[in-house]
This record gives sequence, structure tokens and C-alpha cells, in this order.
Amino acid sequence: MRSYDTIIVGAGPSGMTAALWCARGGQRVLLMERCERIGKKILVTGNGRCNLTNRRQEPECYRGEDPEKIAGVLSAFDLADTMEFFHRLGILTRDKDGYVYPYNEQAAAVRDAFESAVLSRERLDVLTETSVTAVRKTAEGFVVTAESFLTEKAGRKEAAERRRESMTRTKKKQTAEKRQGKKGDRQAVNAVRRQFACRSLILASGGMAGIHLGCDGSGYPLAKSLGHHIIKPLPALTALKSSAPFLKKLSGLRNQASAVLLVDGREVCRERGELQWTDYGISGVAVFQMSRFAILALEEGRTVQLSLDFMPEYSAGEVEELLRSCCDDCPYKSLQEMLSGILPAKLAPVILREAGLEADQMNIPLKQWRTETNDILRKISAIIGNFPLRISGYVGYEKAQVTRGGVTLSELSGNLESLCCPGLFFAGEVLDVDGTCGGYNLQWAFSSGSVAGQAAWRRNQK
Ligand SMILES: Cc1cc2nc3c(=O)[nH]c(=O)nc-3n(C[C@H](O)[C@H](O)[C@H](O)COP(=O)(O)OP(=O)(O)OC[C@H]3O[C@@H](n4cnc5c(N)ncnc54)[C@H](O)[C@@H]3O)c2cc1C
Repeated sequence: MRSYDTIIVGAGPSGMTAALWCARGGQRVLLMERCERIGKKILVTGNGRCNLTNRRQEPECYRGEDPEKIAGVLSAFDLADTMEFFHRLGILTRDKDGYVYPYNEQAAAVRDAFESAVLSRERLDVLTETSVTAVRKTAEGFVVTAESFLTEKAGRKEAAERRRESMTRTKKKQTAEKRQGKKGDRQAVNAVRRQFACRSLILASGGMAGIHLGCDGSGYPLAKSLGHHIIKPLPALTALKSSAPFLKKLSGLRNQASAVLLVDGREVCRERGELQWTDYGISGVAVFQMSRFAILALEEGRTVQLSLDFMPEYSAGEVEELLRSCCDDCPYKSLQEMLSGILPAKLAPVILREAGLEADQMNIPLKQWRTETNDILRKISAIIGNFPLRISGYVGYEKAQVTRGGVTLSELSGNLESLCCPGLFFAGEVLDVDGTCGGYNLQWAFSSGSVAGQAAWRRNQK
């Protein structure tokens, strides 16, 4: 059985970061990844631009049940350390209102920089297309059982060769599978079961978000088998579903609004930003930020509703006043025409419908309305400022950007080492930490990967 100082399960940003820290001073390190190439998920981040981190670092940008420990990890490897780390990888950055991207705004540059740094380390072996299926504690450390889909080749030269070979074989495999008219079950293709030993083990297997990118939550049973507890994982930073009848009419619309999330009628949080309407519900950054709370409430069987304010810069009284002056200035317009001059045209009939108007009433000229206009304008302005959207579900892991929940931090030391199983470390999204939108999840991956990697390296030095 081949033996290593440290084995890392998962070559996402947290695992690769940990591997680079571990592979110092001649330590033997093995990085195991089930996908055909390392760092695959980075390619889809930030819509292909990779929002690496954010200049604004506040505690509320990170969520989990142990905020103190989260803050400790983030300050042990903070924004300045992260920026220096990128620069040493040859990644220049660009700052857009605090949101940090690679200078060329190409996520591939970040993935490639990690990949070439990892492959250049003499004693850092990489095994791709290898799924870790079991881990066992021994007197000396750990035994890791894995299923590989290719034969192993280790070392620097071989790793690069392996990458090329792996890519060619994947293509060949895909062609063969295509010919057979089915998507191949990887486990059925050349699966070889092997075992490796190590002194320290880092679980960096991610959560379940981006399930098509290798993350199926397989790290949770591994953690459990070594004595850890898992806080129920749920999707976060995702779209919400509704069965409201007007969604088909609004589908495709993007508009600015402020949104309040109400659970059983009580405000839980509020956000402001762009809403993106779909035929099944609502999306956009503001919705993403609130989704972790909405999803938990839905799972608990509570009533979830959004209250949307389409003109958050104005009070209800000001909106009413504004509508009245539009009516006075343009009496030849219908209510729908008047409202379409202020808000997106798709939204106008939906708001008027919610205010109780029938289709024919929306289209008669304002001058034909008599005393009732005041009441109607009051109703319309109330709906504009408090548009209710009942939430009935959410979009799952296939589209979610991150997983909330995971391995509880209360069972770990400040440097992310297990308190019940010394020598076992955790990094990244497998932990009970989820960041808000804006580069915070990758920042967590880099900070926790660095803290766990450095601690594992120090432990092996003893
Ligand atoms: C569409 C999308 C866009 C995003 N955009 C951003 C963004 O712009 N900014 C930001 O901060 N965050 C973003 N995120 C979130 C961010 O990508 C993740 O939080 C981050 O990648 C987590 O890093 P990780 O290393 O912990 O896990 P992952 O990146 O999920 O990597 C875990 C790795 O472990 C491997 N693995 C899992 N189980 C096993 C096993 N048993 N054996 C071997 N290998 C295994 C997986 O294949 C995977 O490669 C986005 C996520 C998605 C899905």
C-alpha cells in the first residue's frame, strides 16, 4: 500500500489550496479527485468569470452555526493573505466595486493556475477519476479506499501525462458510450479498487451544489464514519418556485426591487437588487441571498412569502402622489399605459390585476374615471410597494451555487482538525459554512483550505 504524509479528498479550490500548503519541505501528498480534471467547478463560477473574493469582508457574509470559528478561520488566512496567494499563483486581479475577479475575467485562468501549480510540485501526486469510497482510522493515521477508473500514474511528469491521457480516454469513452447510445456509468468502466495510507487526511469533498460537477455529498458519510455529525445539508443561493398564475406573463422580465422574506408572516430578512422572473418562479441575486432562509422554512413546513417593493426609493404616499400627477398630466392615457411609463410594461397589467381591476378597466382612458380614481390609485400604490408572492418550492442542487449545512464546526479545533479523530482535517463547502453571493464561498474555500493545509503540514512535522 502506498503511503503519504497527507491525503486530500477532493480537488476543488479548497482541496487544491490545502494540497499546495501541504506539499512543502518534501512532504508526500496525494490529491484525489473523482472528476477527469482538477478544479472543474471553478470554470462555472461567476458565470465563467470567477468572482474570487470580495474587498468587503463582514461577519454577516458568512453563515453557519458557529460564527466565531468561521471568523477565526477567515482571520487566520484573510483577504490580504488570499490576494498574495493569488499573485504567487500568477493570477492578477481586477476589483469591480469590491468584487474581485481575475484580471482577464476568465475563470479558466484561475483553474489553470491552480492546475499548473499543483502539477509542478515534485512530491504532490494527483489521482483524477478516482472516487474515495471509505476511510478508516489506524494507529499510524488513516487508510483511504478508492475506486479509480484509470490506472495510477504518479509524480510530476506522469501527472501531466496522466492529464493528457485522461482527457483522451474520456473523449474515447464518450465516443464509445455515444455509439452504445447511453451515458456511461463511470463505476462500470475499468474501476480498480485501491488503498492508500496517510498520517493526516483532509476532507475537501465539497457539498452537493453543482451535482453534475462531481459533488454528490459523498464526503458526509466519510465524515460520519470517523465520528462526525452533519447539520442537514440544503441548497442555498438558488432560485425559488411559486405557483402564482401571473408567472407566465412575467417570465423573462428583469427588474430592480427590494424584497422582504416573510416566514409565517414574520420578516426574516430583506434584500435589494435585480429580480429575474421565470415561468416557475423568481431568481436573481436578491432572491439567491434570501434562499437559504426560505428553503429551511419550506423544509419545516412553514408559510413562505416574498413582499416585493417595485419602487423602493419612494414611500407609499409618494408613489400615490406620483401616480396622481401622471393621471392629471395625461388624462388621455389608460391606467395600463400610465403604469407602463413608470414600471416595466409586463408588470403593469399584473399589478393592476392584483389591485382588483378587470382587463377592460385597465384600458379605458383616465378621464373617463370619476370619483373612484383616488381609491384605485391608493390600491395600486399599495400593491407596488407590497406585492405578495407566495413561495411554494425551490430549485435544487442541480442549479444551487452552494450547500448550507454540513460537517459541524463544533467538533473541530480552530484550525479545522477533528477533536474526536486527530489527524483528520476539513476544508471548504463540506463544512457547515455558506457565504452570501459575491465571492464569499471561494474566499471560505481558500481560507479553510489554507488553514487546514498548514495545520496538517505542521502536524506531520512533529
Ligand atoms: C454555478 C456556480 C457558480 C458559482 N460562482 C461562485 C462565485 O463566483 N464566487 C464564489 O465565491 N463562489 C461561487 N460558487 C461556489 C463555489 O464554487 C464553491 O463554494 C466552491 O467551489 C467550494 O469549494 P470546495 O473545494 O469546498 O468544493 P468543490 O469546489 O465542490 O470541490 C469538491 C471536489 O471534490 C470532489 N469530490 C467529491 N467527493 C469526492 C470523493 N468521494 N472522492 C474524490 N473526489 C471527490 C468533487 O468532484 C469536487 O471536484 C459557485 C458555485 C456554482 C455551482
